[in-house]
Parts: sequence; structure tokens; C-alpha cells
Amino acid sequence: MPELPDLVHVEAVLARSVCGLPIVDARVGDPVVLRLMLPEPFPAVLLGKRIADVKRRGQFLRFDLDDGLCLVVNAMLTGRYSLATVGTPPGRDPILALALSGGTELRYSDETRMGKIYVARVDQLDQIPGFASLGVDLLSEDFTLPYIRRLVARRRDQVRQFLLDKTALASIGNAYADEILFAARLHPKTFCHKLQPDEVQRLYAAIRNTLDSAIREIQARNLPIEVKVRDFLKVRGRAGEPCLVCGTTIRRVRVGRDDACFCPICQPTERKPFVDFRNVPKRPTT
Ligand SMILES: [Zn+2]
Repeated sequence: MPELPDLVHVEAVLARSVCGLPIVDARVGDPVVLRLMLPEPFPAVLLGKRIADVKRRGQFLRFDLDDGLCLVVNAMLTGRYSLATVGTPPGRDPILALALSGGTELRYSDETRMGKIYVARVDQLDQIPGFASLGVDLLSEDFTLPYIRRLVARRRDQVRQFLLDKTALASIGNAYADEILFAARLHPKTFCHKLQPDEVQRLYAAIRNTLDSAIREIQARNLPIEVKVRDFLKVRGRAGEPCLVCGTTIRRVRVGRDDACFCPICQPTERKPFVDFRNVPKRPTT
């Protein structure tokens, strides 16, 4: 899926390229992906409306239109945005194509069709599944060390599952969850309630630094928005290859419903508490 660093780039490019332009034509490739929350039919509901603003919120991209309307996209696993000239053949079959005044076309494609596109009024945003329940935005000033300490203290799951929980942190996907845990030197299966204060501090710093440096890298490359830049990642997608820090082979492990990539030396499992069996009281015999 486009993850937060990808979406920061997409947001900036789209804000420069499509803001202020009216929609002159709209086509949908698969109606299943479109969620129309208004009585007006598609595409009439969009025609003539100007894209006033583009904003990222967690993994969602929100396009504010005239008349209090908005288009909200949750790209999920395989959604991709692209910009093209109207009339040029699509690289992938677009799920949604918005032709804009001036000849630019904003396209959204999604091979697995898992993403959703909502057309709604701004006052209906809370009805969009997963939008109102988003946790703290990781690039906002509200994301602080005390905040993550409070979150972690309430969790009973494994740290990688916590990172992926969009209602807690908005938003981290599989690729950056692995990168963050590698930077924090934490095993992906570590339980949140076992994290020591210094480990939570490392986790917090790793979230900020990993996302910040990825954003800088992706912005510096400045590639077309449909290109997913992943070649600078240190563990994700590198199972079987040597760790860039210690040379140990990067492993893959199942955590919940997902596969995680990690280095078994840089990210050791939690230390087993030493049990001195000489002092374990014998069970009373009955
Ligand atoms: Zn290593």
C-alpha cells in the first residue's frame, strides 16, 4: 500500500498539480470500489466541481471539492495514484479517472480492488469506515513520547501488531513496521506490556526518524507518484539477504496475519527471565 512517506509525496505533487482545477469528466472502472454517500448519481455529482484542496490523513487521501463535497480514498494494499494526459492509454486499468480542466487526468488504480473511494459531504466524514477512528497522526505535534507511553501501557498485543493498529497510530503499514522495529532493535513479537521504558523511547525515536528519513528520501528522488520507492529499506523485502548492520541473514516470521522481516541478532527475542529451580517451592502432594 502507499504508506505514509509515499503519501506525503503524493499529497505534495497532487496539491501542486490538481488543486484549483474543475473536474470535466469522471469514469469509474469498477463500481464496487466506489461508495457514493450522496443521492446524486455518478459522475454528475462530480462534474464541474473544483478540487479545492488535497490532504493526507493517516492512510487516507482526501480531496475537498466545491459545495462542501469531498472524495476520500483509502488505497489499502495495492491502490496507486497517477497523473496522465487525458486520452493517453492507462498503464494499469484505472478504477477512477478524473479528467481535469487543462487536460490533466488524475487516475487511481487498484489491482486487488481492496481499496475504497468515498464521495461524501464533509459533514459525513465520520461515517467513512476507519476515518473517524484514526489514531494520532504520526507527523503531528500530538505524537509525543508521553503519548506513546500511555498507549503502550494499555496494550496486551505484540509490538508489531500495535504499530499496524490504525486506531492507535495513523498510519504504519507492513513495510515501515519492519523498518521501525529494526531501527528500534526490537523483535517484532515483543509484547507491548514487556517493553521497558528505554525500549519505548527507542520505539518512539525509531518511528519519527524512520518516517522522516523515508519522506526525505522519497521527496529527493521526486519520481512519478505511481512509483513505489522501496529500494532503500533495510529489512523489508530482504529476507534471506545479509543484515546491513551485522551480516546475519534477515529472517521472515509470521506475526498475527502478516509476515515480518527482521534480523535475529540486531532484534533479539525478549530475554527469558532466569529461573533458579533450586528455589522453586515444591508442589504440595495431595
Ligand atoms: Zn543485524
